[in-house]
Parts: sequence; structure tokens; C-alpha cells
Amino acid sequence: MEFRTAETREQRPKWLKFKGKAYFNEERVAYRFVGTSLDITAQKIIDDATRELLKKKDDFLSIASHELKTPVTTLKATLQLLNRMNQDQAPSMFSSLIELANKSMTKVTVLIEELLNVSKLNQGQLQLNKKKFPISKVIEECFSHIRAAGVYNIRTEGDMELEVSADPERIEQVLINLVNNAIKYAPESKDIVIRIEKDMTRARVSVTDNGPGIQPEQASHIFERYYQVGSNIRHDSGLGLGLYISTEIIKRHGGEIGVESQVGRGSTFWFTLPL
Ligand code: ADP
Repeated sequence: MEFRTAETREQRPKWLKFKGKAYFNEERVAYRFVGTSLDITAQKIIDDATRELLKKKDDFLSIASHELKTPVTTLKATLQLLNRMNQDQAPSMFSSLIELANKSMTKVTVLIEELLNVSKLNQGQLQLNKKKFPISKVIEECFSHIRAAGVYNIRTEGDMELEVSADPERIEQVLINLVNNAIKYAPESKDIVIRIEKDMTRARVSVTDNGPGIQPEQASHIFERYYQVGSNIRHDSGLGLGLYISTEIIKRHGGEIGVESQVGRGSTFWFTLPL
């Protein structure tokens, strides 16, 4: 029999396991009992933690498959339509279907890239190819297309000359994630400000939106693996991996990452890098 009790002095829950055997005489009266009593608290804690981790993993697999299924379904349908169509009859329809197929393909690629990144991070295989470069250059390169689309106004402010020693591709990945999150989670906020500052021995880059902001109790969790605000699976919300991957990339550079946010007032996600 296993049961829970409380330690009298420290009032902590304690799990005990009793195992025993009773010996009976001819009148079926017990005359002897032999057994052991074992403290299994540590084992119970490990079991609970493992169960919770497995549940997280299951939830994650279901989100990941759901997220992958949507663009794949669109892709399949688009390709079927294209296959049936005659290009000469409807050239405008043809090009919009190709555009739709490309969008879905990009989504699938991004999701697969995230999944691969996480397994690389878990195995400690994320390589950094460091270079010295002005941080503003990477920002310019990765957001010119969003600017060109005209919906969002991405403004870069601050020290345009500031150079960092980092892996430009990985830093680009972090920036893209922060700006994409601002677009995804603060869609009403059309102004996104990226600030580059020098802070003693470090460069500090921040991405500010005027969106709904994040509750303080959630702000401490959003950098964790698989964490998404709200437990429901929402379409297009991602895998809850973006900020986790960004955190690992920044930590490996010797920098820090964080968020300052007020509900209703927007969020500022920032990271630092050694100069
Ligand atoms: P995902 O890949 O699901 O977008 P992230 O790790 O990038 O996951 O983000 C984790 C959670 O943080 C998101 O589910 C979202 O709720 C919240 N979040 C991230 N950026 C913002 C933002 N700019 N404004 C409000 N909430 C945000």
C-alpha cells in the first residue's frame, strides 16, 4: 500500500510504501505480521515531474502536427487546383495560387527549421560563426521586405554604427522572431521600433510594439520551451519555440534577453550582445 502523509515537523508531504504479510492460525486469527515501510517521497517527485514532462511533450506534438497540417493542406489544395487549370485561361488566378502555395511552403519550412533548431540545441550542436558587423546592417537586410509591403512601419533608431561580434545569421533569426511576434501578437500596432544602444561593454537591441502587452506572471514563462500564453491551440500561433530558440542563441553569445511590458501598453523585447 502506498499513501501520502505529512511530516510533523516540516509539514511537507511525504509518501510511504508499506509492504507486508500476515500469518494466520487455524482459527484464521492473525498471529504475526512481517513487513517493511519505505519512504518513497523522492521517487514520487520524480514520477510526477516525468509525467508532467511527458504531458508537455504530448501537447507539443499535437500543436506541432496541427501547425504543420494547416499549411500542408493549403499547399495540397492549391497544387490540385493548379494542376486542373489551364494557365492561358486565367493568368491572374494562376499567379495568386502560386503565391498562396509559396506562402504555405514558407510556413512549413519555418516550422521545420524551428523543430530542427530545437533538436540541435538539445544536443548542444548549435554552431556560431562569429563576425564583426554593424548590427543595423542585419536589421536593414531582414526587414526591407516588410517595409516594402507597406503595412507595418518598422523604424530603426539609435547607434547605426555600433558593431557587435556575433553570428549574423543567428542574430537575424532572433530579430525576425521578435518582429514577427510583434506582428502576430500585436497586429493592431502598426509601428514597430527597433532601438540600438551602447550600454558599457554591450550592445542593447530592443523591439517595441504598442500591442496588448503581457501579464507579469506570464512574462517570466514565455522564454521557456513550448510555452504559449493561453492553453488553447490557436491557428497560426506557432510552436511556442521562437523565444526559447532566441534565448538559447543569445545566451550562447554571452548576452541576455528579456521583456518589459505593461498590459494594454505594449511590449519591449530586448537583448544584449558583447561588442
Ligand atoms: P510562438 O512560436 O508560439 O510564437 P514564442 O516563443 O515566439 O512562441 O512566444 C511565446 C508567447 O509569447 C506567445 O505565445 C505569445 O503569447 C507571447 N508573445 C510573444 N511576443 C509577444 C508580443 N510582442 N506581444 C504579446 N505577446 C507576445
